[in-house]
Amino acid sequence: MMRPPEIIRLTPGKRVLFLTKDPELIRRQLRGELDLRMEDLTIDDLLDDINTDAMTPAWVCFSHRPEDIARDAYAGLIVDGKRLFERDALIHGNFEVIVSGLRKGVGSSRETAVQAEKWSGIRIAIAASFAPIHARNNMSQGVLMGDHDMLRRLQTGEGIPLAEFCEGWDPITQLVIRHGGLFPFSKAVAAGEVELPKPDTGPRPMTMAEKILARHMPGDGPHYVQPGDAVVVQVDGGYSHEFTTAQVHYFLEQEYGPGYQVRNPDKFAVFEDHLIYADEVPKMRAFSDKIETLRQLQREFQRHTGVRDFSAQDGISPGICHEVAREQLIDPGDFIQATDSHTCMGGVNNALTWGVGATEYADLVHAGFTQVEVPESIRFELAGKLQPGVTAKDLMLYILLHHARPQWTLNRVMEFTGPGVATLSMDERATLTNMATECSARTAIVVADAETFRWLAEWRPGVDVERLRRRVVAPDPDAEYAGGIYTIDLSTLRPMVAHPGNPDEGIPSDPTNGAWIDEIGDVPIDIAYGGSCTAGKIDDLIFYHQVVKEAVDAGLKVADGVRFLIQCGSVAVENFVRRNGLADTFERAGVTLIHPGCGACIGCGPGVSEDPDQVTVSAINRNYKGRSGPGKLWLASPLTVAASAFTGRITAYTPGMFRKVAARRPVLV
Ligand code: SF4
Repeated sequence: MMRPPEIIRLTPGKRVLFLTKDPELIRRQLRGELDLRMEDLTIDDLLDDINTDAMTPAWVCFSHRPEDIARDAYAGLIVDGKRLFERDALIHGNFEVIVSGLRKGVGSSRETAVQAEKWSGIRIAIAASFAPIHARNNMSQGVLMGDHDMLRRLQTGEGIPLAEFCEGWDPITQLVIRHGGLFPFSKAVAAGEVELPKPDTGPRPMTMAEKILARHMPGDGPHYVQPGDAVVVQVDGGYSHEFTTAQVHYFLEQEYGPGYQVRNPDKFAVFEDHLIYADEVPKMRAFSDKIETLRQLQREFQRHTGVRDFSAQDGISPGICHEVAREQLIDPGDFIQATDSHTCMGGVNNALTWGVGATEYADLVHAGFTQVEVPESIRFELAGKLQPGVTAKDLMLYILLHHARPQWTLNRVMEFTGPGVATLSMDERATLTNMATECSARTAIVVADAETFRWLAEWRPGVDVERLRRRVVAPDPDAEYAGGIYTIDLSTLRPMVAHPGNPDEGIPSDPTNGAWIDEIGDVPIDIAYGGSCTAGKIDDLIFYHQVVKEAVDAGLKVADGVRFLIQCGSVAVENFVRRNGLADTFERAGVTLIHPGCGACIGCGPGVSEDPDQVTVSAINRNYKGRSGPGKLWLASPLTVAASAFTGRITAYTPGMFRKVAARRPVLV
């Protein structure tokens, strides 16, 4: 990567691409018939909320080399059933600047979206605002970000100081931008060419996240941090999966040669979990060869580095990375980074965990440290106890509607504390941390209590519990929460869903579309899916079973025309299900029980819809349009998913509900 010059100018002969709401204007620019200037348009004319899935749909990410990914840049931008950007369109357009409206890069955290632009020749992205993770990925890749006024000035021939492109970033990120991206920055640090700024924050009360970051700063402590401080911190561990590892391997080879090394291989791991069922999704079959290449490259990376190996055995995954990581790898007080947005789930173990792009991950496994701007926090004080029939998933759907929708959780760490925490099992707490990413939060963390240590000791026989206790963090009494402190009385919650929106009325499908089930009317379903990192834990399987058992005892089977799929989150979960007779009940009811793995939210796993008319009720985490097939996806709790599978329409579970149904309906066994 090249260091950007001190004065940024447009390159003579290179072009600027405006992503306009009018697709015809984009077509004409791509065909080379039109060159626009900023004064020809208003910001309102530009596309808002460009989703990373539109920039690089999952199938594009089956290529691991950025130069191949770039060939299908914006392949997910479909107008009237056709790609707006044909293959190679962005590369052949000779563009160096790309311009859009508000919130560029929303959706998933996939870094390939930035790679697709960069390897097509883009060096400056202009937008009214950028989604936080997408902005970070631009920065890692050395793509400069600016606003529409800066573009106006550039198009008049003005040179803009690089310092203006650094404004608003913390001091370390500014250094990364000045060096042209993360790899050149890290090399400069390793060569002693960069003096890193050290925050001089003095003693202050801290949140849980702040305490963990402060502890991970090098040198003798105690250290103190506050939001906005730029710090270099050691990373305790991390993991990647077969959808992402190949890029990590590729980048490390490119940057450090084929003999590259990673710092602490025994602290890092690879998982074969996300594409394990991709071959069974009809739309993904065309990519079988590429997927196999990804698997092989992951094995090659594992052999080369010696990181812990969670490969599939005889075609069966040991489990979803986030589930296995909390079961086996993540200790209280850890700082963990992994290449997936649901890495936040590990916060259930009182750790600080969040997802990063392949570049950041490659950089940190090589260096053993990373750069962080200390995030702000928001706190949820849980009180009371959930009513029967209400679960942690309903709580998260409530938080998504009331706290994430108004953006109070945006890029903040969500801390869960209060007496209500003790009423939730560790599996239920993991649902809370898992869905922090749907809240667009940086991550989530749960306070540790006796149940935390009981659970860890149960899952890790022989573990030194006293050592774990010493690593725990709790918020100081006067810790500051920029996002506020909210008390939620669990006993007031009712079963909720997130609805799939209504594209005809401009309402996008979004996890924040919360609604009480008793207010949504009659919604017949085709698919009920219980699984994923959010809902494939032992307690989730117990929830499904609770409903299925009642239904079976009442003589019911899964409703006609409905497919009910349940997928275990790990081998340990599946063993529990089979050893304790849950699997037998599922079989009697007509439920399809699936080995561990996922892919549900990237359209690569069981439970995805195949046509736009299908309606799914799912216990997964996100319902962004198209991520789990073309149908309509309602998010719900495991209890709701299971109850709906028997009634054939979205239905909240109430204990004993099938006894009443059985009295009215003929026995179907
Ligand atoms: S839902 Fe499945 S595919 Fe999506 S992040 Fe979780 S484990 Fe991965």
